[in-house]
Amino acid sequence: MPSVYFQTFGCQMNVADSDTIYQLLSQRGFVISDCPDSSDLVVVNTCSVREAAEKRAKSRITEFANKKKGRNQQLWVTGCMAERLGGRLKELIKGVDLVIGAKQMERIGEVIDSVLPQNESSPAVFGKSPVTDFVPVMRGCDNYCAYCIVPYVRGREQSVPYELIEADVKEKISRGVKEITFLGQNVNSYNNEGIDFPDLLLRLSAIDGLERIRFTTSHPKDCTEKLIEAVSSSNKFASHIHLPVQAGSDRVLTLMNRGYTSARYRGLIEMIRKHIPKADITSDILVGFPTESDKEFKETLSLVRDVRFTTAFMFAYSPREGTTAASMTEEISGEQKQERLAELIAVQTGITRSIYKESVGEELEILISGRQEKRTAAWMGQDRGCKRVLLSCTSVEAGMILKVRAVESSGMTLLAERIL
Ligand code: SF4
Repeated sequence: MPSVYFQTFGCQMNVADSDTIYQLLSQRGFVISDCPDSSDLVVVNTCSVREAAEKRAKSRITEFANKKKGRNQQLWVTGCMAERLGGRLKELIKGVDLVIGAKQMERIGEVIDSVLPQNESSPAVFGKSPVTDFVPVMRGCDNYCAYCIVPYVRGREQSVPYELIEADVKEKISRGVKEITFLGQNVNSYNNEGIDFPDLLLRLSAIDGLERIRFTTSHPKDCTEKLIEAVSSSNKFASHIHLPVQAGSDRVLTLMNRGYTSARYRGLIEMIRKHIPKADITSDILVGFPTESDKEFKETLSLVRDVRFTTAFMFAYSPREGTTAASMTEEISGEQKQERLAELIAVQTGITRSIYKESVGEELEILISGRQEKRTAAWMGQDRGCKRVLLSCTSVEAGMILKVRAVESSGMTLLAERIL
């Protein structure tokens, strides 16, 4: 059987897209491989969101291209960088055989059909049966945040029809999946034939066998009380809301084209905590946006201290060619950006550690996702929020939902004992 090796960079949408490509390949007889050198096909799914992400992907592709010289191996590049650079990638890196841009994911079946005929007699062979998986409900983005390349490489916002999402969920449940994260660049603006995102979630929550539901990413400008009420209405929903704030200064938020103020964001946090008091709220934060002053950076810090995010993805701004922000005058040196980032990370890490510590003694419901590598009696799981939990225990298997008590915190992981 031919084999395929995947290297996936970037966000969960890319993980979901790699999975879709793999399923189509498996219908053509491919099996997954964990060795790029011996596989017949290498697929590199790329990210364009930051310059550093592109650099990493390019160097990996070059490595694969150099190794395959003289061998009968195919090298495909997919995802956002593939969309941004298109056919130029083949000239930049000799040895790339096929470039599939992110926008082509909508008709990926046809693209793969054009290069690999379907082999109906080959059964699908999946590498593993994970208990958690991703299902995209939207593709693209219409928001054009000033710093972001996504609308240019992923295209306009499109909602996946309910029937297709339901079929995808049922197929995954039949493979043993218990928890699904519904994905989109801005899931809150889902709209298909009158079904909005809260309606979609409530419909999906009625599917038998789907035990836990997560979703990301929520945009603060579209996050409504109807959505939070839906999430608080059933235990199937994780008590985790990822709500990227990006900055704490209203002037910077306006420059970023985010569509909300710091006060509106703080109001949303209050509303979420009213409905889901123990919610883990997480965020994305960008420092050093062009013209951000020291005072404005301090406003971000004070918002972070007030809101107390469980965790956050924090980045220093870097311009992406073609975005609005790329033409703004950068007045902040690379050194200053790194200093601000380090200060923010220190503040947020302290908050994360204290939130984990406060959880010690609490009863948690965890979904076991698998065994910790190399330790037979150590199992990994996640609570209903976003906390990682380690459990020392036997007679456990992936997919079980267990009641445990947190007995210790190692900073970013909870150690727990089984109750039920
Ligand atoms: S909402 Fe803004 S940051 Fe998120 S993908 Fe769309 S443009 Fe990018």
